[in-house]
Amino acid sequence: MQKNNSPTRFEISENKLNELRHILYTKMDEITLLKDQIRQAENQLQYVCSLDGHNIVTERDPGMYGELFRTCTKCKVSF
Ligand SMILES: [Zn+2]
Repeated sequence: MQKNNSPTRFEISENKLNELRHILYTKMDEITLLKDQIRQAENQLQYVCSLDGHNIVTERDPGMYGELFRTCTKCKVSF
């Protein structure tokens, strides 16, 4: 018979699992926030670049179909 104040092996394992899940969810939230901030920073960079004028070049995709695409060499935005 277990004493009330000492957790069972099951409870210890379950707590460990819950603790790890909590850490994972916290970090996933942080990653979502970081991705948002990166998107905003990219938009800001592209906006500032557009004020000075993008330096647009046309390049051919080195892949099999060799499609043309236009990008700015400074901010890397695609058109
Ligand atoms: Zn640009």
